Amino acid sequence: MHCPFCGAHDTRVTDSRLVAEGDQVRRRRQCSSCGERFTTYETAELVMPRVVKADGSREAFSEPKLRAGMLRALEKRPVSAEAIEAAVERIRQQLRARGEREIQARVIGEAVMQALKGLDQVAFIRFASVYRRFQDIDEFRAEIDRLSQEPGPALGGGEDER
Ligand SMILES: [Zn+2]
Repeated sequence: MHCPFCGAHDTRVTDSRLVAEGDQVRRRRQCSSCGERFTTYETAELVMPRVVKADGSREAFSEPKLRAGMLRALEKRPVSAEAIEAAVERIRQQLRARGEREIQARVIGEAVMQALKGLDQVAFIRFASVYRRFQDIDEFRAEIDRLSQEPGPALGGGEDER
């Protein structure tokens, strides 16, 4: 690293330590030419992929938006703020781990659905019914049946009670 004072090419690290709970490396450097000291910080670059929406437009990934969508589904449900934050963080990690520059909005929606499924079934159904806009009612019912964990085949159907 060049010296910011005299531009010399040769600087040496005199001290190196983890800071910010291990998320950052702080280095003290000294220029071999002019003797000036300075500090550098090294942080991992955490780039989230850009989101490709259904209409093909792109937008920056927004964690607040992700969280807001989940909170809406979880409104008045018995799920702790801690559990929600952990879920948000897991989704972020999942998306980043894909290592892609762009990601379909649908993929994020599916990740949220999976997370909600583990947190609260009512929230899951709320989110899924809006997000997936279930094409037909049978699909929706099948999802609920899966959640209800009731063994046995679907009812014959067509039996309306008046
Ligand atoms: Zn220098």
